[in-house]
Amino acid sequence: MIFVSPAHLYGWVSDAGIQSKRLSTIIVDNYYPYTFVNKQGEPDGFSVDLIKAVTQAIDLALDIRVDDWNKAVESLKAGKVDLLPMMAYSKDRDVYFDFSVPHTIAFDAFFTREGEQKIESMEDLYGKTIFVMKQDQAHNYLQSIDSISPDRLILTNSIPETLEKLSSGKGDVALIPKLVGLIFLKKMDLKKIEISPMVMEAYKRPFSFAVKHGNQVLSEQLTQGLLIVKETGQYRTIYEKWFGAYDPVEISMGQILKSLIGWVAGIIALCGILLLWSLSLKKQVTLRTKHLEEEIKVRKKGEKKLKELMKDLTRRNEELDDFTYIASHDLQEPLRKLTAFSSLLKKDLGEDLPENVEKDLDFISDAASRMQKLIQDLLAFSRSGRKDMNIEKINLDKCIDDALYALSTRLEKTHAHIDRKEFPLVIGDRALITQLYQNLIGNAVKFTQGTQPKIRLTAEITGYGVELGVRDNGIGIRPEYQTQIFQPFKRLHGRSEYDGSGIGLAICQKIAERHGSKISVKSEPGKGSLFVFTLKKA
Ligand code: ADP
Repeated sequence: MIFVSPAHLYGWVSDAGIQSKRLSTIIVDNYYPYTFVNKQGEPDGFSVDLIKAVTQAIDLALDIRVDDWNKAVESLKAGKVDLLPMMAYSKDRDVYFDFSVPHTIAFDAFFTREGEQKIESMEDLYGKTIFVMKQDQAHNYLQSIDSISPDRLILTNSIPETLEKLSSGKGDVALIPKLVGLIFLKKMDLKKIEISPMVMEAYKRPFSFAVKHGNQVLSEQLTQGLLIVKETGQYRTIYEKWFGAYDPVEISMGQILKSLIGWVAGIIALCGILLLWSLSLKKQVTLRTKHLEEEIKVRKKGEKKLKELMKDLTRRNEELDDFTYIASHDLQEPLRKLTAFSSLLKKDLGEDLPENVEKDLDFISDAASRMQKLIQDLLAFSRSGRKDMNIEKINLDKCIDDALYALSTRLEKTHAHIDRKEFPLVIGDRALITQLYQNLIGNAVKFTQGTQPKIRLTAEITGYGVELGVRDNGIGIRPEYQTQIFQPFKRLHGRSEYDGSGIGLAICQKIAERHGSKISVKSEPGKGSLFVFTLKKA
């Protein structure tokens, strides 16, 4: 059985437990200059600076861990981290992840040895052996070109390995990401390798922030953060810091004019899109407002109906309670008469009483006494729900003393051992709580198989509440009966095994409910039971 702390069930847990949101991410070490671990052992790189700026812009804290790529991907899939700062979109990945708008688009370029023919068009690749990274996007692309036979591709595992091999005279040309290639040329001090002017347009690598599939709120927040970072110029600063030296913006008059025209066209297009967007947004808002207004109307109607139903239910409950009370009260009288007259009859007949009639009369009086006991229990059950509550600060030690005193004969007879600690002050009705303890301890003493009862009374403070427990070493309760035993008159044993009428736990549950709690039980047959309920701390 799942055991829920009553403090949580009844909303007594303070808000202080809920922490403000922190995001977590993983970066890989070997993807310089995008992500890597610097000499100080800290995560560093273009994507690290960027995601830090973006999360700062949307006011969220970020924890960064370092791990390998597979673990990073698995962690995001499993929701163990919130985002990865750099993932290229692909259809396969789209199943597991959502992507922000791309923050960087990397292009691939060809690299050759100094003095050899540079690549200016795809025809220049004719007859050449080409280095490409295994399972990389460039690999997929070259495989899709009919004029390049697979035996002309030399597969490598990393950019440094590719450049190293090309530089040592192997192969003719390498197809790798342009910027990272240039950075590694400088890092590895390979002066005899040159970049070709042609940049691959057929495919590119759009890198986005990736979040777990379905977490659209975060992916949109990251997109917004990215827009802010671009708008404030931070993006450019970060880009310049990492790629400025390798990707200089050469400015010619022609280029200025070209880019100016591009910008103007872009701005006009953007304005158009914004206009359309704001129009459609306005339409959506009007529609949504109308829906909301209708929803509010329906809800208000529903609430009114619910209130009426609740009132009706309370009234019916009260009526039922009154009926139970009056019926059980009035039923006692004829039963008393039945017992009294059967014993009178016995007395009147005296010596003349045939043996079989005496037996029958005993049956009648026995049944009448049991009926009387049942009615008294029903009355007690009804009373536990009707009695006016006297809610005050109560001393649980005192309640337990009184309950133990009431059970003293049974406790002595069974040599019961009670283990109890000091109890805190709680809020409740003293008489009802004493009765609750009396019933629970009474059961703990009763439901044993002749062994010495060992009972432990516990109290644990949980926020605003005190979780109270009554544990025994008795016969235990099978899981399928653990909720049924709280129903009135539900018993799991015959009268010959254990006496009782099955009302004790129903009364306990009612008392707990009147204190805003609920009793639950944890038990294993043969190993004992633990009954738990919660009261408010004084
Ligand atoms: P009663 O004790 O009169 O039978 P209760 O309402 O107190 O009625 O308990 C209902 C049933 O729950 C019992 O008949 C018994 O089978 C089971 N029960 C209650 N308390 C315990 C306990 N501590 N250990 C094992 N079984 C218990």
